[in-house]
Amino acid sequence: MNPSLPVFGAGLLAGTMNALAGGGSFVSLPVLIAVGVPSVQANASSTVGLFPGAAASAWAYRDGLGPIGAVPLRPLLITTLIGGAAGALLLLWTASSTFDFLLPWLLLIATVTLGFGRQLGEALRRIAPQEPAPAPASFLAMGQKRDVLRLSLNELHGVAPAPVDAVPLPAGAPFGAVEVDVAGCTLCLSCVSACPTGALSDDPDRPMLRFAESACVQCGLCKATCPEKVISLVPQLDFRAASAAPRVLKQEEPFHCVRCGKPFGVKSTIERVIAKLDGKHWMYQGAGNRLEALKMCDTCRVAAVTEAGFDPYGAQPRQRPRTTDDYLRERESKPKS
Ligand code: SF4
Ligand code: SF4
Repeated sequence: MNPSLPVFGAGLLAGTMNALAGGGSFVSLPVLIAVGVPSVQANASSTVGLFPGAAASAWAYRDGLGPIGAVPLRPLLITTLIGGAAGALLLLWTASSTFDFLLPWLLLIATVTLGFGRQLGEALRRIAPQEPAPAPASFLAMGQKRDVLRLSLNELHGVAPAPVDAVPLPAGAPFGAVEVDVAGCTLCLSCVSACPTGALSDDPDRPMLRFAESACVQCGLCKATCPEKVISLVPQLDFRAASAAPRVLKQEEPFHCVRCGKPFGVKSTIERVIAKLDGKHWMYQGAGNRLEALKMCDTCRVAAVTEAGFDPYGAQPRQRPRTTDDYLRERESKPKS
Protein backbone atom coordinates (compact mmCIF):
# COMPACT_ATOMS: atom_id res chain seq x y z
CA MET A 1 0.00 0.00 0.00
CA ASN A 2 1.17 3.49 -0.77
CA PRO A 3 2.33 4.81 2.63
CA SER A 4 1.20 8.34 1.75
CA LEU A 5 -2.44 7.44 2.23
CA PRO A 6 -2.28 6.38 5.93
CA VAL A 7 0.15 9.21 6.70
CA PHE A 8 -2.25 11.73 5.10
CA GLY A 9 -5.20 10.30 6.99
CA ALA A 10 -3.26 10.22 10.28
CA GLY A 11 -2.14 13.83 9.76
CA LEU A 12 -5.72 14.95 9.13
CA LEU A 13 -7.05 13.11 12.19
CA ALA A 14 -4.15 14.21 14.42
CA GLY A 15 -4.58 17.89 13.40
CA THR A 16 -8.31 17.71 14.16
CA MET A 17 -7.67 16.04 17.52
CA ASN A 18 -5.08 18.68 18.43
CA ALA A 19 -7.48 21.47 17.53
CA LEU A 20 -10.26 19.92 19.63
CA ALA A 21 -8.55 18.49 22.67
CA GLY A 22 -4.88 17.61 21.98
CA GLY A 23 -3.26 14.18 21.77
CA GLY A 24 -2.83 14.15 17.97
CA SER A 25 0.65 12.65 18.27
CA PHE A 26 -0.95 9.47 19.57
CA VAL A 27 -2.22 8.94 16.02
CA SER A 28 0.51 10.45 13.81
CA LEU A 29 3.55 9.00 15.63
CA PRO A 30 2.53 5.31 15.56
CA VAL A 31 1.45 5.62 11.91
CA LEU A 32 4.80 7.13 10.89
CA ILE A 33 6.68 4.36 12.77
CA ALA A 34 4.37 1.78 11.19
CA VAL A 35 5.24 2.93 7.66
CA GLY A 36 8.94 2.52 8.47
CA VAL A 37 10.14 5.93 9.66
CA PRO A 38 12.67 5.60 12.54
CA SER A 39 11.21 6.67 15.87
CA VAL A 40 13.30 9.86 16.33
CA GLN A 41 12.56 11.09 12.81
CA ALA A 42 8.94 10.02 13.20
CA ASN A 43 8.56 12.11 16.36
CA ALA A 44 10.26 15.13 14.79
CA SER A 45 8.20 14.80 11.61
CA SER A 46 4.99 14.46 13.61
CA THR A 47 5.78 17.58 15.66
CA VAL A 48 6.72 19.67 12.62
CA GLY A 49 3.79 18.35 10.59
CA LEU A 50 1.23 19.14 13.27
CA PHE A 51 2.64 22.62 14.05
CA PRO A 52 0.65 24.51 11.35
CA GLY A 53 -2.58 22.97 12.67
CA ALA A 54 -1.66 23.90 16.25
CA ALA A 55 -0.83 27.47 15.17
CA ALA A 56 -4.12 27.75 13.24
CA SER A 57 -6.21 26.53 16.18
CA ALA A 58 -4.30 28.86 18.55
CA TRP A 59 -5.28 31.76 16.30
CA ALA A 60 -8.91 30.59 16.26
CA TYR A 61 -8.95 30.30 20.06
CA ARG A 62 -7.06 33.57 20.67
CA ASP A 63 -10.00 35.16 22.59
CA GLY A 64 -9.71 32.41 25.18
CA LEU A 65 -6.00 32.98 25.78
CA GLY A 66 -5.35 34.14 29.30
CA PRO A 67 -3.74 33.31 32.62
CA ILE A 68 -4.21 29.82 34.03
CA GLY A 69 -5.17 30.11 37.67
CA ALA A 70 -2.85 32.66 39.23
CA VAL A 71 -0.14 32.20 36.55
CA PRO A 72 -0.12 34.90 33.84
CA LEU A 73 0.13 34.01 30.12
CA ARG A 74 3.61 35.38 29.47
CA PRO A 75 5.50 33.10 31.94
CA LEU A 76 3.46 30.17 30.65
CA LEU A 77 4.54 30.90 27.05
CA ILE A 78 8.18 31.30 28.03
CA THR A 79 8.10 28.04 30.04
CA THR A 80 6.51 26.21 27.11
CA LEU A 81 9.10 27.51 24.63
CA ILE A 82 11.99 26.56 26.90
CA GLY A 83 10.50 23.08 27.54
CA GLY A 84 9.87 22.52 23.82
CA ALA A 85 13.39 23.59 22.83
CA ALA A 86 14.94 21.40 25.55
CA GLY A 87 12.82 18.38 24.47
CA ALA A 88 13.72 18.88 20.80
CA LEU A 89 17.45 19.10 21.53
CA LEU A 90 17.21 16.04 23.79
CA LEU A 91 15.45 14.17 21.01
CA LEU A 92 18.16 15.06 18.47
CA TRP A 93 20.90 13.92 20.84
CA THR A 94 19.19 10.63 21.70
CA ALA A 95 20.00 7.44 19.81
CA SER A 96 17.08 5.80 18.01
CA SER A 97 17.48 2.57 20.02
CA THR A 98 17.24 4.48 23.30
CA PHE A 99 14.22 6.41 22.07
CA ASP A 100 12.58 3.17 20.95
CA PHE A 101 12.89 1.98 24.55
CA LEU A 102 11.62 5.24 26.03
CA LEU A 103 8.78 5.88 23.61
CA PRO A 104 6.19 3.46 25.09
CA TRP A 105 6.80 4.89 28.53
CA LEU A 106 6.50 8.44 27.28
CA LEU A 107 3.27 7.56 25.52
CA LEU A 108 2.00 5.89 28.69
CA ILE A 109 2.76 9.00 30.75
CA ALA A 110 1.05 11.18 28.16
CA THR A 111 -1.97 8.86 28.11
CA VAL A 112 -2.32 8.90 31.86
CA THR A 113 -1.95 12.69 31.87
CA LEU A 114 -4.59 13.07 29.19
CA GLY A 115 -6.98 10.56 30.72
CA PHE A 116 -6.69 11.65 34.35
CA GLY A 117 -5.63 15.28 33.94
CA ARG A 118 -8.69 16.73 35.70
CA GLN A 119 -8.43 14.37 38.68
CA LEU A 120 -4.68 14.97 38.91
CA GLY A 121 -5.23 18.73 38.89
CA GLU A 122 -7.82 18.55 41.65
CA ALA A 123 -5.56 16.32 43.75
CA LEU A 124 -2.67 18.74 43.31
CA ARG A 125 -4.89 21.68 44.25
CA ARG A 126 -5.89 19.87 47.43
CA ILE A 127 -2.29 19.50 48.54
CA ALA A 128 -1.37 22.98 47.33
CA PRO A 129 -0.66 25.41 50.16
CA GLN A 130 -3.83 27.16 51.27
CA GLU A 131 -4.21 30.80 52.18
CA PRO A 132 -1.23 31.72 54.37
CA ALA A 133 -1.98 32.33 58.03
CA PRO A 134 -2.04 36.04 58.93
CA ALA A 135 1.23 37.39 60.21
CA PRO A 136 1.33 37.66 64.01
CA ALA A 137 0.37 41.12 65.28
CA SER A 138 3.24 43.29 66.33
CA PHE A 139 1.51 45.76 68.67
CA LEU A 140 2.83 46.43 72.14
CA ALA A 141 0.20 45.47 74.72
CA MET A 142 0.32 48.56 76.92
CA GLY A 143 -2.17 50.09 79.33
CA GLN A 144 -4.89 48.74 81.56
CA LYS A 145 -6.69 45.43 80.97
CA ARG A 146 -9.44 47.22 79.07
CA ASP A 147 -6.95 48.96 76.74
CA VAL A 148 -5.16 45.69 76.00
CA LEU A 149 -8.46 43.93 75.34
CA ARG A 150 -9.63 46.65 72.96
CA LEU A 151 -6.23 46.66 71.21
CA SER A 152 -6.39 42.88 70.71
CA LEU A 153 -9.97 43.02 69.43
CA ASN A 154 -9.01 45.76 66.97
CA GLU A 155 -6.13 43.62 65.69
CA LEU A 156 -8.51 40.68 65.19
CA HIS A 157 -10.96 43.01 63.46
CA GLY A 158 -8.16 44.10 61.10
CA VAL A 159 -7.60 40.53 59.85
CA ALA A 160 -11.24 39.40 59.90
CA PRO A 161 -12.34 38.02 56.51
CA ALA A 162 -15.58 40.04 56.61
CA PRO A 163 -15.13 42.85 59.18
CA VAL A 164 -18.19 44.68 60.50
CA ASP A 165 -18.25 48.10 62.18
CA ALA A 166 -20.18 47.10 65.31
CA VAL A 167 -21.03 43.81 67.02
CA PRO A 168 -24.06 43.65 69.39
CA LEU A 169 -23.17 42.27 72.84
CA PRO A 170 -25.31 40.70 75.57
CA ALA A 171 -26.59 42.80 78.47
CA GLY A 172 -23.94 43.40 81.10
CA ALA A 173 -21.04 43.49 78.61
CA PRO A 174 -18.42 46.11 79.50
CA PHE A 175 -18.52 47.83 76.10
CA GLY A 176 -21.35 49.82 74.62
CA ALA A 177 -23.16 53.08 74.12
CA VAL A 178 -25.93 55.02 75.82
CA GLU A 179 -29.00 56.33 74.07
CA VAL A 180 -30.75 59.44 75.31
CA ASP A 181 -34.32 60.40 74.46
CA VAL A 182 -33.36 63.99 73.75
CA ALA A 183 -36.96 65.21 73.79
CA GLY A 184 -37.22 64.36 77.49
CA CYS A 185 -33.71 65.41 78.49
CA THR A 186 -33.59 68.70 80.41
CA LEU A 187 -29.78 68.95 80.29
CA CYS A 188 -29.64 68.84 84.07
CA LEU A 189 -26.24 67.08 83.68
CA SER A 190 -26.81 64.79 86.66
CA CYS A 191 -25.61 61.92 84.47
CA VAL A 192 -22.33 63.75 83.81
CA SER A 193 -21.71 64.02 87.56
CA ALA A 194 -22.54 60.33 88.03
CA CYS A 195 -20.42 58.92 85.19
CA PRO A 196 -17.24 57.48 86.74
CA THR A 197 -15.24 57.24 83.51
CA GLY A 198 -15.90 60.60 81.88
CA ALA A 199 -17.77 58.96 79.00
CA LEU A 200 -20.50 61.56 79.50
CA SER A 201 -19.27 65.14 79.57
CA ASP A 202 -20.56 68.68 79.30
CA ASP A 203 -19.26 71.91 77.84
CA PRO A 204 -18.26 74.67 80.24
CA ASP A 205 -19.41 77.35 77.80
CA ARG A 206 -22.87 76.14 76.75
CA PRO A 207 -25.56 73.64 77.74
CA MET A 208 -24.39 70.44 76.08
CA LEU A 209 -24.28 66.70 76.76
CA ARG A 210 -21.55 64.69 75.00
CA PHE A 211 -20.72 61.00 74.92
CA ALA A 212 -17.47 59.13 74.19
CA GLU A 213 -18.27 55.46 73.58
CA SER A 214 -14.69 54.25 73.99
CA ALA A 215 -14.79 55.24 77.71
CA CYS A 216 -18.21 53.76 78.55
CA VAL A 217 -18.08 50.64 80.74
CA GLN A 218 -21.88 50.19 80.78
CA CYS A 219 -22.03 50.57 84.57
CA GLY A 220 -25.55 52.05 84.31
CA LEU A 221 -24.98 54.82 86.91
CA CYS A 222 -26.14 57.46 84.46
CA LYS A 223 -29.34 55.54 83.76
CA ALA A 224 -30.05 55.16 87.48
CA THR A 225 -29.27 58.83 88.16
CA CYS A 226 -31.24 60.46 85.35
CA PRO A 227 -34.30 62.14 86.95
CA GLU A 228 -36.17 62.05 83.65
CA LYS A 229 -35.44 58.35 82.99
CA VAL A 230 -34.48 59.01 79.38
CA ILE A 231 -31.20 57.02 79.25
CA SER A 232 -30.93 53.45 77.99
CA LEU A 233 -27.84 51.25 77.62
CA VAL A 234 -26.81 49.66 74.30
CA PRO A 235 -24.17 46.94 74.86
CA GLN A 236 -22.06 46.63 71.72
CA LEU A 237 -18.50 46.63 70.44
CA ASP A 238 -18.09 49.45 67.96
CA PHE A 239 -14.67 49.27 66.33
CA ARG A 240 -14.94 52.91 65.19
CA ALA A 241 -15.38 54.16 68.78
CA ALA A 242 -11.69 54.26 69.68
CA SER A 243 -10.87 56.80 67.00
CA ALA A 244 -14.17 58.70 67.10
CA ALA A 245 -14.51 62.11 68.78
CA PRO A 246 -17.14 62.46 71.55
CA ARG A 247 -20.53 62.91 69.93
CA VAL A 248 -23.01 65.52 71.01
CA LEU A 249 -26.17 63.93 72.38
CA LYS A 250 -27.99 67.18 73.04
CA GLN A 251 -27.25 70.89 73.12
CA GLU A 252 -29.37 73.97 73.68
CA GLU A 253 -29.15 77.73 73.86
CA PRO A 254 -28.19 79.14 77.28
CA PHE A 255 -30.45 81.68 79.04
CA HIS A 256 -28.93 85.16 79.25
CA CYS A 257 -29.26 87.13 82.49
CA VAL A 258 -31.71 89.99 81.90
CA ARG A 259 -29.61 92.26 84.13
CA CYS A 260 -25.97 91.64 83.14
CA GLY A 261 -26.32 89.49 80.00
CA LYS A 262 -24.24 86.63 81.37
CA PRO A 263 -25.27 83.20 79.98
CA PHE A 264 -26.52 80.77 82.63
CA GLY A 265 -28.77 77.71 82.77
CA VAL A 266 -30.73 76.23 79.89
CA LYS A 267 -33.10 78.56 78.08
CA SER A 268 -35.94 76.04 77.69
CA THR A 269 -35.69 74.95 81.34
CA ILE A 270 -35.75 78.52 82.73
CA GLU A 271 -38.75 79.33 80.55
CA ARG A 272 -40.54 76.18 81.71
CA VAL A 273 -39.91 77.03 85.40
CA ILE A 274 -41.19 80.57 84.89
CA ALA A 275 -44.35 79.27 83.19
CA LYS A 276 -45.00 76.91 86.12
CA LEU A 277 -44.48 79.51 88.86
CA ASP A 278 -46.09 82.54 87.25
CA GLY A 279 -49.10 83.47 89.40
CA LYS A 280 -49.24 80.05 91.05
CA HIS A 281 -46.87 80.51 93.99
CA TRP A 282 -47.24 83.11 96.76
CA MET A 283 -43.73 84.43 96.11
CA TYR A 284 -44.60 85.25 92.54
CA GLN A 285 -48.02 86.85 92.99
CA GLY A 286 -49.04 90.47 93.31
CA ALA A 287 -47.09 93.65 92.73
CA GLY A 288 -43.37 93.70 92.03
CA ASN A 289 -43.19 90.68 89.84
CA ARG A 290 -40.38 88.64 91.30
CA LEU A 291 -40.29 86.40 88.28
CA GLU A 292 -37.64 88.77 86.98
CA ALA A 293 -35.32 87.37 89.63
CA LEU A 294 -35.56 83.95 87.98
CA LYS A 295 -34.26 85.48 84.79
CA MET A 296 -31.08 86.66 86.47
CA CYS A 297 -27.79 84.94 87.12
CA ASP A 298 -26.95 84.00 90.71
CA THR A 299 -25.02 87.24 91.33
CA CYS A 300 -27.65 89.60 89.92
CA ARG A 301 -30.48 87.69 91.64
CA VAL A 302 -29.00 88.29 95.10
CA ALA A 303 -28.42 91.96 94.29
CA ALA A 304 -31.97 92.42 92.92
CA VAL A 305 -33.66 90.70 95.86
CA THR A 306 -31.62 92.73 98.33
CA GLU A 307 -32.43 95.97 96.56
CA ALA A 308 -36.15 95.12 96.57
CA GLY A 309 -36.12 94.49 100.32
CA PHE A 310 -37.73 91.11 99.84
CA ASP A 311 -38.20 89.17 103.04
CA PRO A 312 -38.06 85.45 102.29
CA TYR A 313 -39.62 84.83 105.71
CA GLY A 314 -42.54 87.20 105.09
CA ALA A 315 -45.05 84.52 104.23
CA GLN A 316 -48.08 83.69 106.36
CA PRO A 317 -46.99 81.61 109.35
CA ARG A 318 -47.59 77.96 108.70
CA GLN A 319 -49.89 75.91 110.83
CA ARG A 320 -47.94 74.13 113.52
CA PRO A 321 -47.81 70.39 112.84
CA ARG A 322 -49.77 68.21 115.25
CA THR A 323 -47.72 65.93 117.43
CA THR A 324 -48.38 63.06 119.81
CA ASP A 325 -48.34 65.52 122.69
CA ASP A 326 -51.24 67.40 121.10
CA TYR A 327 -53.31 64.23 120.85
CA LEU A 328 -52.52 63.26 124.46
CA ARG A 329 -53.33 66.73 125.72
CA GLU A 330 -56.65 66.74 123.87
CA ARG A 331 -57.51 63.33 125.23
CA GLU A 332 -56.76 64.35 128.79
CA SER A 333 -58.75 67.59 128.49
CA LYS A 334 -61.88 65.74 127.34
CA PRO A 335 -64.41 65.24 130.20
CA LYS A 336 -64.44 61.65 131.38
CA SER A 337 -67.86 60.02 130.96
S1 SF4 B 1 -23.02 53.53 81.59
FE1 SF4 B 1 -21.53 54.18 83.16
S2 SF4 B 1 -19.67 54.59 82.00
FE2 SF4 B 1 -21.32 54.50 80.50
S3 SF4 B 1 -21.96 56.63 80.28
FE3 SF4 B 1 -23.28 55.73 81.85
S4 SF4 B 1 -22.26 56.20 83.79
FE4 SF4 B 1 -20.74 56.53 82.16
S1 SF4 C 1 -29.50 63.13 83.70
FE1 SF4 C 1 -31.06 62.71 82.14
S2 SF4 C 1 -32.13 64.66 81.94
FE2 SF4 C 1 -30.22 65.11 82.97
S3 SF4 C 1 -28.80 65.64 81.32
FE3 SF4 C 1 -28.54 63.46 81.69
S4 SF4 C 1 -29.94 62.51 80.24
FE4 SF4 C 1 -30.54 64.64 80.36
